Amino acid sequence: MIAPLQITQEEVLTVLENVKDPEIDTVSIIDLGMVEDISIENHHVSIKILPTFLGCPALEIIKNNIVGAVKKIDGIGEVAVEFIQSPPWTSDRVTEKGREGLKAFGIAPPPKHMEEDGSWHIDCPYCGSTYVTMENIFGPTACRSILYCKSCKNPFEAMKPISNLM
Ligand SMILES: [Zn+2]
Repeated sequence: MIAPLQITQEEVLTVLENVKDPEIDTVSIIDLGMVEDISIENHHVSIKILPTFLGCPALEIIKNNIVGAVKKIDGIGEVAVEFIQSPPWTSDRVTEKGREGLKAFGIAPPPKHMEEDGSWHIDCPYCGSTYVTMENIFGPTACRSILYCKSCKNPFEAMKPISNLM
C-alpha cells in the first residue's frame, strides 16, 4: 500500500504567496498579513483569512482565488476558506515585502505609527516627500484614500491605517 502524500504547511504557504490582492496585483495575501491560520487534516486544508478592510468587495474573489490555487497541490482534498474577524486585521500586519509591493503599485503603505491625536502621515510613494495633502479621503474604495504630493505633483493612493489602538 502506498502511503498517502502528506500536504505540508509550507506547500500551502508557497501557493498562497501567488494569490494576489485582486485590485493590487503586486501584493499577495501573505504580504498583506491576511493569512491567520492553516490547518491540514489528512488531505483537507482549511485556511483562516482576516479580511483587510470590512466592506471591501473583493472577498469572494479572494476566496475563489485561494481555493483555486490550493487545489493545484498534488493530492489535495477539500479546501475550506473561512473569513474571521478575530483577531482583527491591522495595517501593522503588512510585511516589508507587502509595503514594497504597495509602493510599486503607486500606493503608499499604511503608516507604521499613528500620532497621539489619531492623525497619520504618509510619504509619497514616488519621491518619498512628506509634503502631501489629503485630496479626497474616500478614494476609489473605502479602503484607500487619494492624496496629492506637493513635491512631485503626483496624485497617489494610500492604504488607510487600521490599528487596534485607534
Ligand atoms: Zn512625490
